[in-house]
Amino acid sequence: MVPDDVAPTAEPGPGTPGPAGLDLPWASGTFPPDTVAARRAVWDELMGLALHEATHALATGDVPIGALVVGPDGRLLGLGRNRREEIGDPTAHAEVLALRQAAATLGSWRLEGCTLVVTLEPCAMCAGATTLARVERLVLGAWDPKAGACGSVWDIVRDRRNPHRVEVVGGVRDVECGDLIREFFETQR
Ligand SMILES: [Zn+2]
Repeated sequence: MVPDDVAPTAEPGPGTPGPAGLDLPWASGTFPPDTVAARRAVWDELMGLALHEATHALATGDVPIGALVVGPDGRLLGLGRNRREEIGDPTAHAEVLALRQAAATLGSWRLEGCTLVVTLEPCAMCAGATTLARVERLVLGAWDPKAGACGSVWDIVRDRRNPHRVEVVGGVRDVECGDLIREFFETQR
């Protein structure tokens, strides 16, 4: 028997749509946090998750690059790793796969207010996709002086000719992110 004082809406039951995505422990409260130090701590934690995802690419001989998307409330909406070799798809970059999964989670291609976290500065394709998805913020690990399109070779995400521009936070755990890729290429030789 159900007690009378329990409102039927008190707990979300099966079939009740809750907030989309997966709750992350450091995403409680204001996201991202107000202070520089607290923001930095959250970017470091999120980059750790992207780095972990990147290591899974090693199993398929793919360059270890990982990405994730968190929503405006800090919930995890999408995760991706480079799968170019695994599935033989030139567009299967970590960022594209993370953006696609985030859009599927939200049921919309508009990722307004979302943050994309990626271990390596996005290429031209991924920078374009980030802009088209209306992502608010890009948090990147290592810069890519050879093919980066977020400040290194090009700056597609902040090009003034583009109606939507993305805030860039660069160099988060850049040594770890860069070392992972460097070690991969050293073992390939
Ligand atoms: Zn890319």
